[in-house]
Amino acid sequence: MVNRWGRQLLDGLFPQLCLLCRLPSASHLPLCACCAAQLVENHTCCRCCALPLPDGNAGLCAACIQRPPALDRVIAPFLYEPHIGYIIARWKFQRQRHLSGLLAELWLSTVEPPRDRDLLLPVPIHWRRLLGRGFNQATLLAMALQDRDPNLQPLPLPSRVLCRTRAAPAQSTLTAHQRAHNLRGAFALGASVKGQRIAVIDDVMTTGATAEAIARLLKRAGAADVQLWCLARTPPPAT
Ligand SMILES: [Zn+2]
Ligand SMILES: [Zn+2]
Repeated sequence: MVNRWGRQLLDGLFPQLCLLCRLPSASHLPLCACCAAQLVENHTCCRCCALPLPDGNAGLCAACIQRPPALDRVIAPFLYEPHIGYIIARWKFQRQRHLSGLLAELWLSTVEPPRDRDLLLPVPIHWRRLLGRGFNQATLLAMALQDRDPNLQPLPLPSRVLCRTRAAPAQSTLTAHQRAHNLRGAFALGASVKGQRIAVIDDVMTTGATAEAIARLLKRAGAADVQLWCLARTPPPAT
């Protein structure tokens, strides 16, 4: 553990470079204040699924009004755009695990995490993908959030409660309808979640099919409340 003085000394000797502009970041994080300000916050969004809504709209999106989802709330503080997309891609696909800390600090700088949760459940990835990547990015994010927020530290972060039962084609190659179909039976529970208030953790919410499939499973098993905590939400499809 490097203390604050030690970190300042290390930062002076080996200044962190900003991931986006490659200039010294002037902080312990690999992102300068100027580039951090380029990230787009998801201010105006559906209070259930966090879908970005036109300015001035508050409340629920049309889809959540027509068909209330099993998810009770989505917290997605950033819009998915090229800046955050670049950081997430470096973290996830170029295996730069140390970026978990940066992403957790960005999340905590914009969100006051609800204190009523009983359990953190990272979205699991299939063991074959885990073998290829070497880590589950959702688990790394959950651990980094716990490291930085004392209120989250006591929450269990079990690895065997929510399991991925089969490999599915990468969701990114599918349409929204195919995604929902693709996920049928893809997850299973390995322990009771009755009465639990759960935060499911993931990196990005696109159509929400994965989180919704998990929320339905958890609710059927008696979970009291299911939220999704993720970094970014994709904007609605252009109409
Ligand atoms: Zn920068
Ligand atoms: Zn919605």
